[in-house]
Amino acid sequence: MTERTDALQRLRRANEAAVLGELRRSGALSRGELKARVGLSRTTLFAIVSDLLERKAVIEQPAPDPEEPRRRGRPALEIALNARGAELIGIDVQRRRIHVVMANSAHEIVGRYSVPVPADSGATERAAHAIAAVEELAGRQNISLAPVQGIGLGLPGFVQDPASADPRNMTPFAGHVAAALGRHFDAPVLTDNNSRLAALAEVTWGAARGLDNTVHLGWSQGVGGGLVVNGQLVHGAHGVAGEIGHTSCDPEGKPCHCGGRGCLEGLISMPALIAACAERGVTVQGTAELVALAAEGRPEVADVFRTAAVTAGRVLASLAAQVDPECVVIYGEPAALDDLVLAPIREVIAALSLPSALRTIEVRGSELGADAAALGAVALLLRTTGQDLAELLDRPVPGSAVEDGAPLTTGAAR
Ligand SMILES: [Zn+2]
Repeated sequence: MTERTDALQRLRRANEAAVLGELRRSGALSRGELKARVGLSRTTLFAIVSDLLERKAVIEQPAPDPEEPRRRGRPALEIALNARGAELIGIDVQRRRIHVVMANSAHEIVGRYSVPVPADSGATERAAHAIAAVEELAGRQNISLAPVQGIGLGLPGFVQDPASADPRNMTPFAGHVAAALGRHFDAPVLTDNNSRLAALAEVTWGAARGLDNTVHLGWSQGVGGGLVVNGQLVHGAHGVAGEIGHTSCDPEGKPCHCGGRGCLEGLISMPALIAACAERGVTVQGTAELVALAAEGRPEVADVFRTAAVTAGRVLASLAAQVDPECVVIYGEPAALDDLVLAPIREVIAALSLPSALRTIEVRGSELGADAAALGAVALLLRTTGQDLAELLDRPVPGSAVEDGAPLTTGAAR
């Protein structure tokens, strides 16, 4: 794509976003009302509306008329958001499963879907599975993909190249999946670690809704998390902030794939707990059985979970002392085990935290399901698009001429 068509496309998206934003705030409006409120020229506004109509992002409906219907002429029409069109798509490409969430232009969640993916598949295959999952959901629930404005993508592990301080430098895997999705759906893709996105979902819709300072531990096949400070998800200089699973708990411990030793992930991940059960003579087939045995109170398994929770609690207590959060949220399968997991974590934080305020930090289990990170990917789009579009509107667009020679400077009328 050339720089100029790229710039035109960004301008078009910015104008569309302005129109959709006004409809979101005000409800259905006539073209005249929209023109007055958005501040675009008649030509530009009408072109955008007809494009949005064609792409099913908006619909045209008769305006409710409290007075008598007009005797002459066509009935007044107004433009409204299409509740069955996907504007934002959140995709979480996990190691074994893909979750998809779609939000319409009113920013309501209109579809959720999940499919297994082979654990050993590479970036190209994963991207193809993700595309198929999105199209399957759209087909099943009769959701139009024409209005798509952005895709939020969650991936396991490092998304930003950890050797780089530039957040635009993604790992080859992340870059490949994001590019394939962006090409297919012709939409910008925002990518982040899925554990971090789950934290964003918790502060947007879940257990930490509305809180500004929260610590999140994602505990499942891997161990991750997220830090929310002053309402913002923290990434750090190298994109590794909130990687709680790679806190070293034992400098003499087992080497970790991150290059460290004795990482929390190696001690408490589901595979590590299954191995710990095996050492105690209990054979467990998978995570579901592991959690079920713990919930039933099988002593060896319960003990393994309690020990893991104490280890996690120490790391969380240390983080709590630094971040001073309002609450700690645990998500992943163990979050359902209140007595064996949440209670010991609460006790450890209380015991290790000297400032009295920290002794009573709430430890909450997630309220969201397995697609929390896909929801978080939608939350990421909702948080980011507004900001980016505002930037676009203020920034002179390169390649500043359209066909008729009019300057292309801002999102306002040309
Ligand atoms: Zn590690």
